[in-house]
Amino acid sequence: MAETILVLNAGSSSIKFELFEVGAEDRLDSRFAGQIEGIGVKPRLAVKTASGRVLVDRPVPLDDAADVERALAVVEAWLEAELEGPLTAVGHRVVHGGPRFAAPVRVDETVLATLETFVPLAPLHQPNNLAPIRELLRRRPELPQIACFDTAFHRGHGELADRFAIPERLWEEGVRRYGFHGLSYEWVAGRLAELDPETARGKVIVAHLGSGCSMCALAGGRSVESTMGFTALDGLPMGTRPGQLDAGVVLHLLTAKGMDAAALERFLYHDCGLKGLSGISNDVRVLLASSDRRAKRALDFFTYKIAQMTGWLAAALEGLDGFVFTAGIGENAPTIREAVAHRLAWLGMRLDPHANGAGGPLISAAESRIRVWVIPTDEERVIARHTLAFLRGRRPGEGA
Ligand code: ADP
Repeated sequence: MAETILVLNAGSSSIKFELFEVGAEDRLDSRFAGQIEGIGVKPRLAVKTASGRVLVDRPVPLDDAADVERALAVVEAWLEAELEGPLTAVGHRVVHGGPRFAAPVRVDETVLATLETFVPLAPLHQPNNLAPIRELLRRRPELPQIACFDTAFHRGHGELADRFAIPERLWEEGVRRYGFHGLSYEWVAGRLAELDPETARGKVIVAHLGSGCSMCALAGGRSVESTMGFTALDGLPMGTRPGQLDAGVVLHLLTAKGMDAAALERFLYHDCGLKGLSGISNDVRVLLASSDRRAKRALDFFTYKIAQMTGWLAAALEGLDGFVFTAGIGENAPTIREAVAHRLAWLGMRLDPHANGAGGPLISAAESRIRVWVIPTDEERVIARHTLAFLRGRRPGEGA
C-alpha cells in the first residue's frame, strides 16, 4: 500500500488539508485537497480531487466544529472513511519557528513546548497551528508529525535586516524581524529556478499577494530581506491589516482613543488594510468590480505600496533582475499586476499585455529590463516534501 502524507494548515476559522500519496521515486501525487471553514460560525467541509471532482461539500453541525480541536475530529473521521490504510506522517504549517528553528522539525513533547513559547510572537496564528499537533501527539504519539515554519526560509538574513533600532536586550529576547510566507517563497524560488534559471541566480523580488501580503528579496534563490517583520502586521497593506504603520499611530490609539490591547489587536488584524481604507471590502475582486471611488483609492494605495516596497527591497539587493507575482491576488488579478508594472516602468519593467491577461507564466515584454513571472504558489507541496524528507532520513534541504 502506498505511503500517505497528510498536510494540515490550521488557521483561526479554517483547517486546510491535502493528502499526498508517495509514488515511484518518491513522487508526491495529490489525491485530494479540502478545508473545513467557518469553524465556530458556520462550518462547512469541502474536498476536491486534484482533477477538480467534488468528493464532499456539506455544512457541518456547529456543535461538531465549534473550535479547531473539534473541527479536526470531523476532518479525521472523513479521512478515516476515505483512506484504505493508515497515514504515514502529517506535515503541519506552523507560522512561527522563533529565532531557533531554521528548518522543519519532528515534533515531540519537548519541541511542542518550545513552539508554545512562541505563541506571544504570533498570538492569532500559532495557537491554532499547534492545536492539531498537540491533539494528535496525545492520541497518536507514534505518528510522525513534522512542523514546517513560515519563518524558516528567512533565517539566513543578515543581522541588519533582522534588527530594529531598539535596545539590545529586546533583540536578545527575540524582538527581531522574522519575515513570514517562507513556505510560499521557498516554493516560488524552486519553480523559478526550473522556469528561468538565469534570473533565479540573480536578484529577484517575489510578491506574495493573498489575504496576507508580503514581499521577499531573493539573491540567488535565498531570502535576504522581507517586508514582514516581527509579526505578520508589517510591510504591505493587506485585506484587513494595515502593513507599515508609524508606531505613533498605535500610541495615539492607546492614549487619545482609549483602546486597550485587545481592542487594538482586533483593530490591527481585522479592521484595517483594504477593508478599512475602502470601507467596502477586504476582497480585491469586490474592489475591482466596484465603481466607488473609495475602492479605486484603496487599490491605488495597494499598488503604490507594492511599488514603494520594490524600491526598498531592490536597495537591499543592490539591483533587480526578476519579479514574481504569486498567491490569490498575484496569480489572478492582471489589472493589479499591470498597475504595479506601470509604477515600476522607471526600473525598466514592461509587461506583455496579452501574456499578462492570460496569466503568464512569463508576463514581461521582450524589451523589459526585468523578467516578470506569475508563479502559482503551493505551500502544501513544500510541506509534503519536507515531511517525506524526514521519513527518508534526509536532512532539510537535501534533494531526493
Ligand atoms: P489565503 O490562502 O491566505 O487565504 P489567497 O492566496 O487564496 O489567500 O488569496 C485570497 C485573496 O485573493 C482574496 O481575498 C482575494 O482578494 C484575492 N483574489 C482571489 N481571486 C482573485 C481574482 N480573480 N481577482 C482578484 N483578486 C482575487
